[in-house]
Parts: sequence; structure tokens; C-alpha cells
Amino acid sequence: MRNFRIALASVMLIASLAWLGLGFHAPLFLGISERSQIIPSAIQSCLGATVFWIIATLLFGRVYCATVCPVGALQDATIWLRKKTGKRKPFRYKEPKKFRYPILVAYIASLALGALTVGYVVEPWNIVRNVMSTVNPADTSGTWQAAGISVGIGMASGWISFCLITVWAWHSGRGFCTSVCPIGTALGTLHTQTLMHIAIDPDKCISCMKCEDVCASGCIKVEKRLVDNSRCVRCFDCTDVCPNDAIRFQINKERRRQTPLMEVGN
Ligand code: SF4
Ligand code: SF4
Ligand code: SF4
Repeated sequence: MRNFRIALASVMLIASLAWLGLGFHAPLFLGISERSQIIPSAIQSCLGATVFWIIATLLFGRVYCATVCPVGALQDATIWLRKKTGKRKPFRYKEPKKFRYPILVAYIASLALGALTVGYVVEPWNIVRNVMSTVNPADTSGTWQAAGISVGIGMASGWISFCLITVWAWHSGRGFCTSVCPIGTALGTLHTQTLMHIAIDPDKCISCMKCEDVCASGCIKVEKRLVDNSRCVRCFDCTDVCPNDAIRFQINKERRRQTPLMEVGN
């Protein structure tokens, strides 16, 4: 599962960069990289990908963040490089940041009020689009000029966002995904209703800490046998390193308990 998701994320990242960089010269099949994104799909009023990802999230959690989002893949690449240097400390559990919800509300309000530039600065696909306008300015010039902003400033905003996210990923893992990104926060709100989730079996866990060490989302707390599935980006790094098969991707029993019938049954 982990290898499949890494392969898919890599292919989608390359396709995204080629699609945005080559512009009109790009082969049409590469357009799947844009059509599979949540916000571009919603904006283009075709909603197919948006509906698909909502259903996928209800079934499996934030798999969108593990597979097709180019900003997620770029952070994974940074984290991989960080690991290769061998100089960084292991990841540790972090308390969830409450400001992620006000950011989500501000993002939705800005879209509703027509302030599209907010979306162009914080929404992941547009961050990459702004960066790639360095080689293909024609793709974003209309957008920025309609907002009364020069292409150069739009391009700079993309690079500033990209650099901040990369530095954050180098130091702390998927911090942008778990604390800032409005798309990730919105998908994370569905976590109590997902069919599958990541969970630790307290009877099998030997507290070796390997899963917490590798969790770039900082959402595993071994001490309490806790996995915060609202922040889990379904990278499956934890399930891959566990020596005792104690952390697994499995049916979300908490969800079943939350239904009234199950409560009566209990
Ligand atoms: S949280 Fe946002 S930036 Fe991170 S992978 Fe998900 S959609 Fe992309
Ligand atoms: S809990 Fe596991 S699958 Fe989820 S982000 Fe952390 S390491 Fe990845
Ligand atoms: S890697 Fe497995 S055994 Fe080790 S702390 Fe995590 S769940 Fe427990």
C-alpha cells in the first residue's frame, strides 16, 4: 500500500509540473493532474473530482493528501531528503493547532466574497501553479491581471509560499498540511465518519516508538496509544515500520460506536 501510494504521488507530481510548466504545449493526457484536484474541479463546475474525493475521504481518510496533491508530494520529497541527511531528530507528536479552523473559515469566506487572490496564495494547486508561472507565465497572467496584480507578484507569492512550506517540512514534517492548508483541514473534519482509520492495538504495541518517529504529521502519540486521524495524511509510513503489526489501517470501530444503534447495543 505504501509503495503504491508513493509511486502514484510521484507520477502525479511529475504530471502536475509538466502540465503547468509546458502549458499549451503539454500533451492533453497530463491534464488528469489538474482534473483530479479538488478545488480546480470545483471551480470549473464539473465537480467530478470533488465528489470523488469526498467519497474517498469518507471511506479511507485523507488519501487525497497522500496521492494527487503536488504540495503534499513536494513535502514528502523534502522529508525524504531530510531523512537521507540523517541529521534530523525523529518526529514527535504535536498538539493540534486550533488556528487551522479559523483559516478554513477565512478561506471559505474569501471565496464566497469573490476575493480569489486568497485562494491563489494558500490553495495547494495554485501555489504550484504560481511557482510554475516562472517558466509558463501565460497560464496565470490572466488570473493575476484580473485581480489587479502583476504576474511578477503572483509568481513571487508562489515562491514565498513554496519556500516557507519546504523549510517547514524540513524542520517539522507536514506542518502546512496539518495546521494551515484549508483543503486538508476540511478533509480532516470528516475523520470521525471515515470507514477506515489508523489505530494502535494496545495489546500488541511494545512502545518501541518507531511509528511516532516516522510520522511527519505528528499525529501519533504512542504513550496514549493515540492516532489523530484528522491530521493523518495516509502515508502508511507507520504501518510499514511497526515490528509487531500493532498499528494498522483498519475498520473504524469508533465510528460504529458513535451511531445510536450501536450505543443502545453497548
Ligand atoms: S493538506 Fe493541503 S497541501 Fe497538504 S497534501 Fe492535503 S491538500 Fe495538499
Ligand atoms: S499516522 Fe501513519 S499514515 Fe498517518 S500520517 Fe502518521 S505515519 Fe502517516
Ligand atoms: S511501531 Fe508498533 S509496536 Fe512500536 S510503538 Fe508503534 S504501534 Fe507500538
